[in-house]
Amino acid sequence: MASFSDRSQANLATCDERLQEIFEQVVQHFDCTVLEGHRDEARQNQMISEGKSQLGWPNSNHNTSPSSAVDVAPYPVDWSNRDRFHLFSGYVMGIAQSLGYPLRWGGDWDADTETNDNRFDDLVHFEISE
Ligand SMILES: [Zn+2]
Repeated sequence: MASFSDRSQANLATCDERLQEIFEQVVQHFDCTVLEGHRDEARQNQMISEGKSQLGWPNSNHNTSPSSAVDVAPYPVDWSNRDRFHLFSGYVMGIAQSLGYPLRWGGDWDADTETNDNRFDDLVHFEISE
């Protein structure tokens, strides 16, 4: 059974308790790494300048404390394997639904279960949607 690294655990600890609960269940069955939870102002500005976020401080869901958003990737991380991110997301969304938590994924912002209408793909991003 997989478990989180110390770094993943520290990142997840900055997040909403529901996100913690979801991903603690997910990692037991699908190994993954928590890339980032809460982002401070300097980090958010860096994400904007790198084109990795569209929202300025403090408007990202990563900017709240605890963070309403988390970036998680299936492990080992292979950025070229888009299919695996989609498979992982389906797994995460199923777990979230079973727990009754409203989760939104960056590969399907409008949550219509279609991925080909998504204008800004952020395939590692999951956020509590209320
Ligand atoms: Zn994110």
